[in-house]
Amino acid sequence: MDHAATTPVDARVLEAMAPYFSEKYGNASSLHSHGREAKSALEDSRATVAGFLGADPGEIVFTAGGTESNNHALKGVAFANRERGRHIITSPIEHDCVRKSAEWLATQGFEVSVLPVDEHGLVDPAELESIITDDTILVSVMAANNEIGTIQDIPALAGIAHGHGAYFHTDAVQAYGKVPISLSGVDLLSASSHKLYGPKGVGMLFVRRGTRITPLMHGGGHELGRRSGTENVAGIVGFAKATEIASQEMKSEAGRQAKLRDRLIKGILGIPDSALNGHPTKRLPNNVNVWFRYIEGESLVLMLDDAGVGGSTGSACSSHSLEPSHVLTAIGLRPEEAHGSLRLSLGKQNTDAHADRVLDVLPGIVDKLRRMSPLKSRRDVEEMLKYEEAH
Ligand SMILES: *Cc1c(COP(=O)(O)O)cnc(C)c1O
Repeated sequence: MDHAATTPVDARVLEAMAPYFSEKYGNASSLHSHGREAKSALEDSRATVAGFLGADPGEIVFTAGGTESNNHALKGVAFANRERGRHIITSPIEHDCVRKSAEWLATQGFEVSVLPVDEHGLVDPAELESIITDDTILVSVMAANNEIGTIQDIPALAGIAHGHGAYFHTDAVQAYGKVPISLSGVDLLSASSHKLYGPKGVGMLFVRRGTRITPLMHGGGHELGRRSGTENVAGIVGFAKATEIASQEMKSEAGRQAKLRDRLIKGILGIPDSALNGHPTKRLPNNVNVWFRYIEGESLVLMLDDAGVGGSTGSACSSHSLEPSHVLTAIGLRPEEAHGSLRLSLGKQNTDAHADRVLDVLPGIVDKLRRMSPLKSRRDVEEMLKYEEAH
């Protein structure tokens, strides 16, 4: 139940990719038949991805994944438009590859503003309206959050950006293939294959025709000059196959997973001193995120793992830093609350039996950890002292 981190490659995807490693290994830039074969697979893949989004094939740039796509969108637009303005707006719950790109741009003469979010992680379009200026060149707000699953009102935010002559970018890595995406008002959109039962290390950036953007990779002029480097044809074919499968299965899978999600949320919230993180309804169909008072998320994840359940937490060590999740603190959780969070992200393989297993083992694990918890004991001591004072 950690599909927001990554997903297994679908057997049909693997089958579609296989020939492009061996028999059909041509370089898509070569003129001979091997090259043309690779080129036509590349362009078929581009048409599939474009068709899924309702874009033009010429607006799809294949990249090495979500991180590259987001870096390219922010840095590429910033540098191509710096004569027009220096102001960039983003949100506090973005993936690190957007946040760190924006932070780096702030060291390069750009000015970065971070929009507030409410307790569910929603950006209020009125807030964007109030901080956007004529100097704003780019607004970047993610379509759906990877930790808490909150889905933003992208058309409303994009409309405001356009009203002020700014480009609008959205990190749709978690939304792509899971919920319908509208390109209305969107100039740039990022997606990644491995979050969608495709291979790792491949993704794409939608760049609306006419958008001014500087490449990150300079070289032989691949991808219409936007991203040089011999194309990862096998990976791109796999990404396109994963997209095609998602376009057929998205609706039924979203419905099935949302039912599983709601059953899990309802069952988990039956545990005392727990609460839901993220929006109750504007939420990815596969995302469950809860917090438990007096719990350290890392221990919880490890004990769940022992019980055969793979989850994740916004707690400190798992994120390789000592800070708790920036997403959970942005929605107003205190650090000790953020440390007690658990994310379960569902996928195609998850069944009712898996949900039963979680609901079976989780209450006991939470109870056991609370008995050992220094936070809990401190509260007990405080209550005892209060009781003694009162009597
Ligand atoms: C996974 C993820 C990324 C990074 O994508 P990679 O392909 O792993 O580099 C970016 N944004 C979000 C929201 C993600 O979930």
